[in-house]
Formats: sequence, structure tokens, C-alpha cells
Amino acid sequence: MNETSAISALIKRQASEAGFDLCGIAPATDSRELQYFPEWIEAGHAGEMKYMEARDEQGSLKRASLSRVAPWARSVVACAINYNTDHPYSIEVREPNRGWISRYAWSREDYHDAVLRRLKRVEAALHETVCDSQPELITRSYVDTGPIVERVFAKYAGVGWIGKNTCVINQKIGSWLFLGVILTSLELTPDVPAPDRCGTCTRCIEACPTDAIVEPYQLDSNRCISYLTIEKRGSIPEDLRAGMGHQVFGCDICQDVCPWNRKAPVTNAPEFFPREGLVNPALDWLAEMSAQEFRDTFRGSPVRRAKLSGLRRNALIAIGNSGELGLLPVSEKLIFDQDESVSECARWAQVRLQRSKEHSS
Ligand code: SF4
Ligand code: SF4
Repeated sequence: MNETSAISALIKRQASEAGFDLCGIAPATDSRELQYFPEWIEAGHAGEMKYMEARDEQGSLKRASLSRVAPWARSVVACAINYNTDHPYSIEVREPNRGWISRYAWSREDYHDAVLRRLKRVEAALHETVCDSQPELITRSYVDTGPIVERVFAKYAGVGWIGKNTCVINQKIGSWLFLGVILTSLELTPDVPAPDRCGTCTRCIEACPTDAIVEPYQLDSNRCISYLTIEKRGSIPEDLRAGMGHQVFGCDICQDVCPWNRKAPVTNAPEFFPREGLVNPALDWLAEMSAQEFRDTFRGSPVRRAKLSGLRRNALIAIGNSGELGLLPVSEKLIFDQDESVSECARWAQVRLQRSKEHSS
């Protein structure tokens, strides 16, 4: 085994010891998938997520080219950890007075912190190993926050293929994966890219309630419930609200239906076990939540990203979709809420519930 292979093997051992379920190495090159990124942005599919459009001084999209944004990088170490827990999938649960928070957001610790802590361990071990032979070694660890499309490098590192639902899927573990990457100036031994195993399956495309997967492997964020419930501020287009069903933060449907998640194992990491009350939460609780309760409940949680206003708005849309007449008083009360997007959705929910009442009588 030459030195490059030995260091590559050591990184993978360290990743496993740090608690990652998967680790692979990709060359730091600009692949075919990254070349499509400008088109995706140009088509407006990123919605209001302006950070996706970050550009360098020459005006080029940072995420479209690792070679421009980190010209020193030679390899990308892609790591993944399973966050699945032993709880039902969103499509298996139908309690009309309850909503759904995406699986990844249940965790006790913010996944950015949990994954970054592990990456830092691997990074430190790498520096320790090569400090004599490579004193100039550069490394950078990223979890979601870097100018890099992690899932593309995860594919080329053999961690998993990018499914038609645009998630990284591993043949053995499925797609409930948090990804993190370490860019390094070291030339490492690359792994073989993961082959696409979607085949003729189209379950995710058919199951998506808002037709957000506009074609296989192409997501229009403007239609995606995940984007609408987390990133979109203010009003949500009315034609998409019915499709949002009971989703109040994120959406798991295209992963729930994926056959590769049918036997997804459960995580070994206790920090990803759910916080009290977040699995299938009560809609009235969310819609009427106070600022203090929001802070206490979601301290260090990705749910904070939606902000209290967004979460309450989403809960009211879910109430409008619930058909649950017992929630009518909640929507009636919140029509007078000071938050414009909350009061507007409360009115919308009230009308929907009254219609359900008329139909049922
Ligand atoms: S997350 Fe939900 S809305 Fe978005 S593509 Fe998947 S199924 Fe559709
Ligand atoms: S549901 Fe089918 S098409 Fe969609 S990601 Fe899974 S395997 Fe691929």
C-alpha cells in the first residue's frame, strides 16, 4: 500500500471511529452535475434562497465550480451519518389534528453541530498523520454552509447515488443521511462513484403532492413543501396549500415512498433521537405557540429557520387541510393575529373548514 492509499484508508477508519456510517473520497473536480447548476439557478428553481446564488468576484456561481472557489483542493472526503429513528413515516400517520415535522429536524442536537464535530475529529487526525510530510496541508470542513454541493461529491465518493428525488441514497442504508465534507489539498485515492439504482422507479415523482419534481433529478424549490415551509417568507401561493397536507416543517414524502428506505436501519447516534413532542405534533399547539415557547422548544433545532411566524402559518395551512372541525375555533381566533401571514392563513383555514362542515352536514 502506497502512502496515498494508506492515508485514504486511515481517513475512512477515523470517520468510522468518529461515528460516520459512510465515508468515501472524490476528486475535487467539477463534474457534469455541477455544470447543470447554473441552468437550475437560471430557471429560478432556487426560489428565494439567495445564498444558493452566491457568486465570486468574476460573477460566477460559487457552487458551480469547486476548482474556482477552492483551487487548492485536490480531494473531497464525503461522510454521511444515518439519522433515521424507530418512528413511523409521514405517509403512515393520519391524525387530522396533528402535523408533521420532517424527520431530520426532530433531533436533540442541531445536526450541523453533530456532524461538524465528527468532521473536525477526522480533520484533526488527518493533520496529525501528515504533519511531517505535508506541513502546508489545507483542509476545510462543511456541513451545508460551504460553497459546495455536498451531494454531488457524495455521489462521486461512492457514498450513494443521487436519486430522482435529488436525495443521496445508499444501497444499504437508504437516504436518511446527514452529509458533511472535508476539502483537502491532499491527493487521496478516489472511490468509485455510486451507480444509479433508481432504474424505472418513479414513486417519488408520483407521490410528490405539489409536483415539485418537475422531471427526474430536477426539483423546482418553488413548488417543494420543504422550501415552502422552511425558506419561504410571507404568503404561500394558494394553489400549493392543499398539497401541503399536514406538513408543517419540511417534507419527507419522496423519501418515505422510496423503496430503498423500506428497510432503513435506525441510527446509533443518540443526539438524533427525537425531542419530546416533535413527532407528529398537535396543530393547535403549533398554531398558538408563543415566542417564549418557540425559543424553549426549538433551541438548537433546525426548526428555528422557519421562524415562529412561518411555523404558525404552516400549522394553519395544515389546519385548513385537516377537515378537523374541532380546530375551527383555533383558526377563528387567529384571524385577528397581529402577524399578517398568520391571520391570512387563519382566514384561509376557516373557509376550508367551514366548507368541510357544509359538505359533511
Ligand atoms: S420534499 Fe415533498 S414536496 Fe419536495 S419534492 Fe419531495 S415530496 Fe415533493
Ligand atoms: S422513489 Fe424510486 S425513483 Fe425515487 S429516488 Fe427512490 S428509487 Fe429513485
